[in-house]
Amino acid sequence: MSGCIFCGIVAGTAPATKVYEDAALCAFLDIRPITRGHTLVIPKEHATNLDDLDHELGARIFTLGHRIAKGMRRSDLGADGANLLLNDGKSAFQTVHHVHLHVVPRRRGDLFTFARGFVLRRPHEPTATAAAIRAGLDRLDTEEKGTPA
Ligand code: 5GP
Ligand code: ZN
Repeated sequence: MSGCIFCGIVAGTAPATKVYEDAALCAFLDIRPITRGHTLVIPKEHATNLDDLDHELGARIFTLGHRIAKGMRRSDLGADGANLLLNDGKSAFQTVHHVHLHVVPRRRGDLFTFARGFVLRRPHEPTATAAAIRAGLDRLDTEEKGTPA
């Protein structure tokens, strides 16, 4: 949709540090991360909010968010948990009106870092951070395929 920043990221006309992409979905680092690795999962086709989103696509967005959270646990970010959050509508603090699922990596004892990140929202080496998450996703793939006999 014209004028939508996330549609611009999908089209490649707006910059973003991508973590994952397939025919239907895209995941990229939040420009103002709460913690290092804070990722947004979006449908490539514009949907303004949950009312506008196909159910199956919604399930695929969650599945990818789930995989990214698992990849983060296997990455060098040191995550051992994650907050998955979707703000639906202005009253729920949605500020970018293209559906997106936040995946915010967490680690034990990070409350101070999390609270500071919530206020400062500063990026942390985006290229290296995205590479670390992709490496975690590769480890997850390898683990799921199992060790050949
Ligand atoms: P919301 O409050 O709508 O759930 O969150 C929108 C998120 O999108 C925020 O965390 C914000 O930092 C992020 N964001 C806004 N504009 C851009 C952008 O141009 N690029 C990226 N990568 N993230 C953005
Ligand atoms: Zn859009």
